[in-house]
Amino acid sequence: MIKLKGIAASGGIGIGKAYFIGVEEFTIPKRKISHEGISQEIYRLEEGLIATRKEIASLQKRISDELGFDHAKIFEAHLLVLEDRVLIEDIIGQIKNKKVNVEYAFSESIKKYVNTLLGLDDEYLRERVIDIEDVSRRVLRKLLKKETVSLQELKEKVVIVTHDLAPSQTASLPKENILGFVTDVGGITSHTAIIARSLGIPAVVGVEIATKNIKSGNNLIIDGSAGEVLVNPTTKVFKEYRKKFEKIAKEAKAVHISKAIKARTKDKREIVVSANIEIPEELPLIHKFGAEGVGLYRTEYIFLGRRDLPFEEEQYHAYLNVVKKVKPYSVIIRTIDIGGDKFLSQPTVPVEMSPFLGWRAIRFCLGRPDVFKVQLRAILRASAEGNVKIMFPMISGVEELKEAKRLLQECKQELKEEGKKFDKRISVGTMIEVPSAALTADVLAEESDFFSIGTNDLIQYSLAVDRANEKVAYLYEPGHPAVLRLVKSVIEAAHKKGIWVGMCGEMSGEPLFAFLLVGLGLDEFSMAPPRVPRIKELIRHIKYEDAKSIVERVLKLSTASEVEKYLQQELKKILKDDFNRILMI
Ligand code: PEP
Ligand code: MG
Repeated sequence: MIKLKGIAASGGIGIGKAYFIGVEEFTIPKRKISHEGISQEIYRLEEGLIATRKEIASLQKRISDELGFDHAKIFEAHLLVLEDRVLIEDIIGQIKNKKVNVEYAFSESIKKYVNTLLGLDDEYLRERVIDIEDVSRRVLRKLLKKETVSLQELKEKVVIVTHDLAPSQTASLPKENILGFVTDVGGITSHTAIIARSLGIPAVVGVEIATKNIKSGNNLIIDGSAGEVLVNPTTKVFKEYRKKFEKIAKEAKAVHISKAIKARTKDKREIVVSANIEIPEELPLIHKFGAEGVGLYRTEYIFLGRRDLPFEEEQYHAYLNVVKKVKPYSVIIRTIDIGGDKFLSQPTVPVEMSPFLGWRAIRFCLGRPDVFKVQLRAILRASAEGNVKIMFPMISGVEELKEAKRLLQECKQELKEEGKKFDKRISVGTMIEVPSAALTADVLAEESDFFSIGTNDLIQYSLAVDRANEKVAYLYEPGHPAVLRLVKSVIEAAHKKGIWVGMCGEMSGEPLFAFLLVGLGLDEFSMAPPRVPRIKELIRHIKYEDAKSIVERVLKLSTASEVEKYLQQELKKILKDDFNRILMI
């Protein structure tokens, strides 16, 4: 068995045989043409481009009908390549000056184009290279009179393994026969990743050596949530994953149970269960899984994988789209949390020794008010159209919070003077994810309308465990007494000041800890959309008063394993026959 690591692009488990898709190779003939032959070759170029445009337009229509307009937009980039005057002039120039046939001229010009982009060493532009290569293969097929290779005839269920899938290939694959995607290249926002997510197909991208290690027919397990690919797994591992797979399938069924129902404990304590989102493709999941709004919108994804920074208008439209689709529920927009493990492709942002402790999130924003204010203005403008709340990440002391609020005030003033609308009473929240913030929560509460506890970071900083390092993963314990004490004191400080407190770290989507958090008095839980139904279900089966008294005893325990064991035992007594179903055991 080989285990390959990649980027977790689309959650879920895929088990099946590998189907290898290689890159289509063309042999490009080079022919010398006479002076008289030039116009004939230029005519063939025009014909080829027109035919390709027609083909793309009809593909675009089909994808738009099947998957929606947003997905069909990927073909616009292809059409732009076909209309690129500089490229077309270059091809014609080669035909005229070098007196070569159109296929040869075309492929030479494309090579030049691609090499220039690759030379720029920019992830965003590299992804554009995929578009260019994809469209150029289409044109060459026309010029060389080759048949379009179709994956439509894929008859059995398989896991697709390839260096990279061209967007048009991904979109036109027969979805019902695809168990997963594994690619050598690509990032979280690559086309394959986006389409896989919206189709609910597990995907691991950026594996780098997938095509070297996997052959068609190999048995594969892909874990799209962990970003792992297991090649020819042992029977033991296979059984383990089969169980996980069935658990996820059960989770999907639970959706129908609690979708439209409120999360209210048996003793009538109402709790808000909302969703975390990163990209617009996840928006339909909010309603599908019955989340009550967005508790964390990680806006940095708009900034990643590009060399430029998004302008105010682009950001405004991105936020507005989310706000409108989530209405009447609220959207908590977190200002950019760049740094840590999420980097900008900008030459001005330095590489650091300890990025998680470095120029990250609010520190970056306060150091670059020019960037920060553009985002604040865009968020404020979107707040005129729905229920928007704003939240600052990585606050470590009240001065940072005050400075961020001062800049927000400046933006409000500017917008007012420009006559632009925004919600004047917009709520401002603080993320509690640094121990110093947790310990001074009483001070921060004076300046905040709400708190959201970011346990993903709070755990890493309070236990000194790098959240991204698998070697110390065993020390990453949400149930550690230190973490529980910090969370408890944050909730108490917030309530003392009369503000509500939520949690948007992964911990809130874990049933066992969710039970504990209800007992600690947490008001809002925000998590990955597919986790929502299970947590709602749990809340509806418990009493706040029971959870509260159990938590009092939990807080006296000394290790994370004691905590988990005790919670399991007590929750089992409460849920009885529902325990296994709700906890998916
Ligand atoms: C967190 O730290 O818990 C959190 C929700 O933020 P992120 O995972 O984006 O750092
Ligand atoms: Mg965080």
